[in-house]
Amino acid sequence: MSKHVMPTYRRTDLRFDRGEGSWLVTENNERYLDFGSGIAVTTLGHNHPALIDALEKQAHKLWHVSNIYNIPAQEKLADTLCAQSFADHVFFCNSGTEAIEGVIKTIRKYFAHHGQPQRHKILTFKGAFHGRTLGALAATGNAAYLDGFGPSLPGFVQIEAFDIELVKAAIDAETAAILIEPIQGEGGVRSVGGAFLQQLRALADAHDLLLAFDEVQCGIARTGALFAHHLFDVVPDVMAIAKGLGGGFPVGAFLATAKASAGMVAGTHGSTYGGNPLAMSVSQAVIDIVGTPAFLEDVCQKALHFKQGLSRILDSYPQIVDGLRGEGLMLGLHCVVENTKIVEALRDEYLLSVGAGENTIRLVPPLNVTKNEIDIALGALERACHKLAEAQKTAD
Ligand SMILES: *Cc1c(COP(=O)(O)O)cnc(C)c1O
Repeated sequence: MSKHVMPTYRRTDLRFDRGEGSWLVTENNERYLDFGSGIAVTTLGHNHPALIDALEKQAHKLWHVSNIYNIPAQEKLADTLCAQSFADHVFFCNSGTEAIEGVIKTIRKYFAHHGQPQRHKILTFKGAFHGRTLGALAATGNAAYLDGFGPSLPGFVQIEAFDIELVKAAIDAETAAILIEPIQGEGGVRSVGGAFLQQLRALADAHDLLLAFDEVQCGIARTGALFAHHLFDVVPDVMAIAKGLGGGFPVGAFLATAKASAGMVAGTHGSTYGGNPLAMSVSQAVIDIVGTPAFLEDVCQKALHFKQGLSRILDSYPQIVDGLRGEGLMLGLHCVVENTKIVEALRDEYLLSVGAGENTIRLVPPLNVTKNEIDIALGALERACHKLAEAQKTAD
């Protein structure tokens, strides 16, 4: 590891050289089954031919033009996303945290535009993760992440639990919006539940608040629905997406109804790279593939198969893992032993997973993973749990 890379990550000592579908291959030609997907990013695995084709074709035509010109590929993707969602308008950026910044700005501007600039407060939830820029960090409200970075952006109120009475009690004359991940990713694959989201919608309507969803991790077909909120029969006014959208190409976006984006007129927001032709071409290819009913149905079928296998493992090793969480192919296991131990044990079995909050691990395979690859992962998990259980016995 070069001493010149700023050491902000605790990195695992693996050096990948290339990807092949659901697999990552190290410099020493060791093959790992990738159920981390670069943290729910590589939607269609590595080196998907349609994405390579989209990127190559665009690379030979045009890499970059400024947003001071029309960008046809951007218009096409905006049309596609709006046709498949609640939204009327899309702004493209380059990451999840930028998408959240856009959501915050859209919310604040909406109330300023309507002559109520005092309404700027956004209610967020404990366990949330919204990104690492200062605005998104303030929304995240994680003390460890904020520590040492000076005054936090004001205007965020964190609600302690998914409890509608707590939300009601937090609303005052300055409240503008509620921001929530329909399924918390980093927080530990915590499902908020459809009933709670519907209660938030009703509360937002009753108080003229905007409802914003962070679908940076749970969006883009991850749950078996193109957007996670489609599972819960509830629509937001504003939404952030990123991660899975580009399938590995850096891109993000925020979407809004015409009403909610009323204040976002010419000159109010911008990005040099946002909506760049390369990012748009790849993202269009991703959405064209994952947005079809047949693809989404296939994700649900495979998720069911995976969940059944995981339930058997939970039954066999209750001393190692004791809870299954999530929807579709955004799954989490609650761990009894330290989650990092399980991530390591899985790595020893050549299966990549990702740790998350509340002592969980995330299993977020590419959405085009095969049933056979899911079975390979289940085998690795079974062996890892067996080893950990044996080690526990000898320790006792
Ligand atoms: C990863 C993530 C972000 C931040 O995205 P970046 O691309 O890392 O800036 C925001 N919200 C959620 C829910 C995420 O999972």
